[in-house]
Amino acid sequence: MDIKPETPWDGTPDISARIIVAISRVSSVLRAGMWEFATAENLNPTQAEILMLLKDRVHGVRLSWLAAQLSVSSASASDSVAALVNKGLIRKARAEDDGRASALWLTDQGKTLVERMTTALGFADDAAAALDLDVQGQLLVGLFKLIAELQKTERFPALRACLSCRYFEANVFPDSPAPHHCALVKAPLPISFLRIDCAEHEPADAVTARRNWEIFA
Ligand code: SF4
Repeated sequence: MDIKPETPWDGTPDISARIIVAISRVSSVLRAGMWEFATAENLNPTQAEILMLLKDRVHGVRLSWLAAQLSVSSASASDSVAALVNKGLIRKARAEDDGRASALWLTDQGKTLVERMTTALGFADDAAAALDLDVQGQLLVGLFKLIAELQKTERFPALRACLSCRYFEANVFPDSPAPHHCALVKAPLPISFLRIDCAEHEPADAVTARRNWEIFA
């Protein structure tokens, strides 16, 4: 005899599973948009992603950092970097903080291409901007919290986010709409203004960063 479910919703996956499916779908749409742009520019998807990762990196980045962000080996990232150097889109020079190491920057041509890519992917930004401001804030906090959990698994590459920045001071003004503080600009920092990729970011020590990710909201 068949066992009937007690409610019509018994087969519904958990909320956690549906969150991950939703994020995965959004990510697929963004990736498809990037691939479409990359193909039209004669780039492969990894090359396009490298260009986006170099955006606003005024101090340059190391190859090892790029590889970690892409979750690929340094050898594999190196091939893509070499192709981009040959195309004149990125340049390699001595790292600012270590004369024996090299770092990578976008060239002017690379910056122009990245601007066009950002515009081509603007449909996703438009969709997020169309949400009610409260919903945007809740979504941002929820995503930060999800990232904090993922970081415990050490599967999430380092971010230039406020919560891992040495200038971030958590809960300096508790119970206020702007509870945190940025010691660089010397201003209160509302949760809705927390940055996920700040050009002025300086890494905090590991213990402080972990504590910030746990208590920020
Ligand atoms: S705004 Fe930038 S500099 Fe200030 S705390 Fe956030 S990441 Fe650090």
